[in-house]
Amino acid sequence: MNLAEILAVGEAMERALSLLEGGDVIAIPTETVYGLAGDATNGAAVARIFEAKGRPRFNPLIAHVADLAMANRMAAFDPLSTKLAEAFWPGPLTLVLPQRTENGIHPLVTAGLDTIALRMPRGFGGELIARLGRPLAAPSANSSGRISATTAEAVAADLGEKIKLVVDGGATPVGLESTIVKIADGKLRLLRPGGIAARDIEAVAGAKLMRGAAGIQAPGMLASHYAPDASMRLNAGKIASGEALLAFGRKRAEGWQDAVALRNLSEAGDLREAATNLFAYMQALDRSGAATIAVEPIPADGLGEAINDRLARAAAPRDQID
Ligand code: AMP
Ligand code: MG
Repeated sequence: MNLAEILAVGEAMERALSLLEGGDVIAIPTETVYGLAGDATNGAAVARIFEAKGRPRFNPLIAHVADLAMANRMAAFDPLSTKLAEAFWPGPLTLVLPQRTENGIHPLVTAGLDTIALRMPRGFGGELIARLGRPLAAPSANSSGRISATTAEAVAADLGEKIKLVVDGGATPVGLESTIVKIADGKLRLLRPGGIAARDIEAVAGAKLMRGAAGIQAPGMLASHYAPDASMRLNAGKIASGEALLAFGRKRAEGWQDAVALRNLSEAGDLREAATNLFAYMQALDRSGAATIAVEPIPADGLGEAINDRLARAAAPRDQID
């Protein structure tokens, strides 16, 4: 196994850029914790983030931007969002905002949602994103289930065999994840406490933050997860007429010719490719108007765990949603 190269911030820029341009993921220091960063417009790079972390779920990631102009190309800012961004960026505040269509962000970053979580990091991360010219998707640089890494050594010890570069910026100053605030219809909701105190945000906004998740729905159907209108039938060995088919691999389920619409997550049976296609294909099949999307069996190893988790959430009963 090759171990990640560790380069200090002062000498890492060109290497970091060339790895990101090539679709690799790298660890970078931010003011909160170390981030596992990949080009947010490149689906394969985003799939590699989940793969390297061994994350069993495709929860949406934060897209990191270099400046307000880039942020404005990604999301629709109302006056309140602009005020918070101007007050706290760069810094440990993440804003969840309505996403602009055609912003180039791969749907795996937002887990197929029509909102996007944005943050402008300070220091090396910000410079790197400005040079790249595109946002970086970056969750914390630690294996799933472990605590966030606040030093380059901790990142290398955990993920060193899975990535090529750790950029060393020393110990991260905040050491806590960012505070996440969702802004919708002029109202603010605290989704996650973090590096900026809620009262400081309330002081700038001149309004209270609502707390608690909005409208938690049926099992596995958190408000922050994309749910297709069609019902989903998993591990389908046979397709009924009128169903749409979400296929995987070379071998088709019986009756596939009768499917009203068909998308193959990966003809080659490649789970990384399947992950990058998952949200776009669920949405495409949903748009076909079929009442049911039948899904062929997908292996549970590697990224297959997160793919199956996402499909199971989409297939969970909806009758408890109000
Ligand atoms: P992490 O990248 O591990 O720091 O986690 C990012 C957090 O942001 C997770 O808790 C996500 O659920 C949350 N998040 C990201 N995008 C959205 C979104 N569009 N709506 C709601 N929450 C989001
Ligand atoms: Mg984390």
